[in-house]
Amino acid sequence: MFGECHAHIFMNGRSYKEAVERHKNGVDQQAVKECLRQYRDAGISFIREGGDRYGVSSYAAKIAKDYGIDYRSPVFAIHKKGCYGGIVGLEYETLSDFSVLVKKAAEEGADFIKIMFAGLLDFDVYGRVTGTALSFSEMKELVHICHEEGFAVMVHINGAEAVRNALISGADSIEHGGYMTDEELSRMARLGTIWVPTVSPVGNLRGTGRFDEAAVEAITAMQLANVKRALALGVSVALGSDAGAVGVPHCSGLMDEYQYMLEAADGDKEMLDRVLAASEKQVKERFRRH
Ligand SMILES: [Zn+2]
Repeated sequence: MFGECHAHIFMNGRSYKEAVERHKNGVDQQAVKECLRQYRDAGISFIREGGDRYGVSSYAAKIAKDYGIDYRSPVFAIHKKGCYGGIVGLEYETLSDFSVLVKKAAEEGADFIKIMFAGLLDFDVYGRVTGTALSFSEMKELVHICHEEGFAVMVHINGAEAVRNALISGADSIEHGGYMTDEELSRMARLGTIWVPTVSPVGNLRGTGRFDEAAVEAITAMQLANVKRALALGVSVALGSDAGAVGVPHCSGLMDEYQYMLEAADGDKEMLDRVLAASEKQVKERFRRH
């Protein structure tokens, strides 16, 4: 069984509000244990987290060994003040604030750093990404600070230009990465950057009526076409579902994601499994503190 390379254990696949209520006055340890038990029972023994600001992720990382799970956590994600990211992390305003947060993550046992470089896909409007992406120079500074501290960087990002800048900045993994063009995909292949396409959060919206159906269809098709192209170009595509996000339950979300990857691979399971296994191995090697 493949590992889950992008999960948020504090979320429950249904409602963000409900998740916050559950953990805001202290980690609901039973809920975390139950979730880890589910992963163990599904045969999933590797999880890389996206973090949260309630300490749920770091609690999970502490006890995951008891469930036979290799668990990698950034503790919390980091975003720039005024930009997307408040739901899973802490904010910085200046580069020195950012350095302080990286040190805090280190003290709290982070295995790597997660940074929000851009906003979310707007599921109602094809082609639109919410908010504005960080500037190229800022991305470079942030990645540099993390690497100096021995941390790999997991980057939440969407939009072709933003992804291109993130790749040149030396990001270790691209999460989501909506609307990439051939240029970014080829660059990713050349650099050996890991890509976690997380098709499930949009693909699983199909038929739910929660957003504009035509936009949801088009975004899903765009991402699947890019995964197909990435596989052809030799990109290190890794399996991660964004488990915990609305419509993406823990464990079954990973199965959904695998089906999307298989669709993008035109059913070539052998090739797909080889790529996913090699990428997971790289994630395991890189996403721990060096
Ligand atoms: Zn996420």
